[in-house]
Amino acid sequence: MFPILVIPGVAMRRVELGRVQVAWPMGVSAVEKVLLRRGLLVEDWYDAAGRVQMSRAADPGSGFVLDYVKPVYWYPGRDRAAELAQVLARVGQWLGTDAAGAEALVRRELAAAPEGFSCLRCGDCCGRMGDAFRGRVSIEEVAWWRELGLDWLLRFVREEKRPGYSFFRAWVHPKSNEYLPRCPWLKPAKNGEPAGCRIHAARPLKCRAFPLSLEHAERAHCPGAGVDARPRPIAPRAA
Ligand code: SF4
Ligand code: SF4
Repeated sequence: MFPILVIPGVAMRRVELGRVQVAWPMGVSAVEKVLLRRGLLVEDWYDAAGRVQMSRAADPGSGFVLDYVKPVYWYPGRDRAAELAQVLARVGQWLGTDAAGAEALVRRELAAAPEGFSCLRCGDCCGRMGDAFRGRVSIEEVAWWRELGLDWLLRFVREEKRPGYSFFRAWVHPKSNEYLPRCPWLKPAKNGEPAGCRIHAARPLKCRAFPLSLEHAERAHCPGAGVDARPRPIAPRAA
């Protein structure tokens, strides 16, 4: 049994979130998720000259290699919009389209579940799978939540400062700064009703992209693996 976290104001804010129609913020993190979903290998490396943590996505089949600044790290002063444009242009070139086509593809692929997977809305990933509900979120997501005025949500996001860069952890206890034992926005399945997400419209990218693949779902012991052989929209997962 997971502890129930009482968060003042959530019910009211949920109504406000129901009106959120803003598209989630595009970033290199989203592009990376799609590359992983397409089977590319992603490895980190350190650019000692630029003193920047980098990532490299590689497709052994086609020889495509893409280097980019590790997307969950935020280096103040870098032009992330320009870096995203470069990444989208390179990915578009690889896929035979332009940057706008690549962005549309990223949005489309992250809105669809992997083939052979169908979410059962059991809530296990949000309540029990630490790898699914804990982790880093990007500066684009944090800026988006700020723009939406979701201060109550940002209380559960912790900025970790390091020399020259920062990263953001979610979801952490506002006082202890420890990761929470389950996602605070999970509405557990009850009385035959499926589990829900109280912040579905504004949920993080890591939730939108879970599972990355059928194999990922199987490894995570997600009961949705193998349920349906047809690709279908993943949302609402736990919604
Ligand atoms: S993604 Fe898997 S674990 Fe999560 S709610 Fe759906 S079926 Fe359950
Ligand atoms: S989908 Fe919602 S409830 Fe589940 S981990 Fe993400 S934010 Fe939490």
